[in-house]
Amino acid sequence: MPQPSGVIRIVRCNGCGRLKDEVTYMIAGTHVYMCDHCVAQVARQLTPRRPLTPGRPPVDAVRCRFCRQLRWKDEATSVGSATVCVDCLGVMEGVLAEAEQASRPAT
Ligand SMILES: [Zn+2]
Ligand SMILES: [Zn+2]
Repeated sequence: MPQPSGVIRIVRCNGCGRLKDEVTYMIAGTHVYMCDHCVAQVARQLTPRRPLTPGRPPVDAVRCRFCRQLRWKDEATSVGSATVCVDCLGVMEGVLAEAEQASRPAT
């Protein structure tokens, strides 16, 4: 029997509910997780991608689970229980691209 080494928190994607072990990459936010599948899903849902409009006060707004900012409905989308804005999607895509590059053997 392996010795208990501490509390293991089960990390699950807030979009699809997959466990960390079931996906290639898991992006961690504050109290929210999203796997690479759901990032791709968000990217599809936010096409065409609308850049954030500075100074436009959100009226019919949703709150992004990652940056906790209020966004217009056309500047954010939801997968499962996770709402992601275009800003955070861009950050996540950057993280995934970097992770993919790092996992590739240097040639
Ligand atoms: Zn997912
Ligand atoms: Zn956001």
